[in-house]
This record gives sequence, structure tokens and C-alpha cells, in this order.
Amino acid sequence: MTDKNCVFCKIANGEIPSEKVYEDEKMLVFKDIEPKAKVHLLAIAKTHFKLLSDADECGMENIKYMLAKIPQIAVANGCKNGYRLIINQGDDAGQTVFHLHIHILGGEVLPW
Ligand code: 5GP
Ligand code: ZN
Repeated sequence: MTDKNCVFCKIANGEIPSEKVYEDEKMLVFKDIEPKAKVHLLAIAKTHFKLLSDADECGMENIKYMLAKIPQIAVANGCKNGYRLIINQGDDAGQTVFHLHIHILGGEVLPW
């Protein structure tokens, strides 16, 4: 379940380099290439799907798994005082990479 044209699948399989901060058999967390906050990480599942609405049962299990792991990963990477999670969905949200990902933003007081 990978897409050969997907940037994040390429990051997951090592074809494109990234600054990884966490990896296991199901998920990968790496630094955003254009950080919008002092800490800006992206969490992805290793299986490819574009949107929440495309997630099958396995996809939903992966999302649940990532949400359970993110708190410890965020704190370990400089978000001890809180952080914001964002999942952009589609064009109006400004989604540019269509492999579901969770932005983790923090390391400072964030403007709304
Ligand atoms: P979206 O706008 O789709 O929610 O977020 C996509 C994010 O991926 C953007 O914040 C963008 O900076 C980041 N991004 C796009 N291409 C790459 C890449 O090749 N490497 C890394 N580390 N981040 C990327
Ligand atoms: Zn992908």
C-alpha cells in the first residue's frame, strides 16, 4: 500500500532523505522541510492513503496508533509545554501532500 509518486511514501522508504525523529514498523515522524513553528514535525503512517475519508479499518487503526504515540514524541522533541496537531484535508485546507499526515507544532506559544 504505497504510491510510487507520493513524496511521503518516498520518505517512508528512504528514497527521499528526511530528518527522522521517530520510526517504528507502523509510523514515521520527521521534521517539516519548511517549519511553521520552532518545532514542526510530521507524523505519517507507512501505508498510503490520502484523506481521513479514504481510511479503511486498517487506516483508522494507524491513525489511532499515531495519536497514542504522538504525546511522548512531541514532549521528547521540545513540546513540553503543549503543542498543536493539524490534519489538513483537501484543497480548501491547503493540503499539498496527499498522504495523510499529522502536523505537530510547538516549542513556543503558537499564534492562533
Ligand atoms: P500539507 O499542506 O499537505 O498539510 O502539509 C505538507 C507539509 O509537508 C508542508 O508543511 C511541507 O513543508 C512539508 N513537505 C513537503 N515536502 C516535503 C519533503 O520533501 N520533506 C519534508 N521534510 N517535508 C516536506
Ligand atoms: Zn504516500
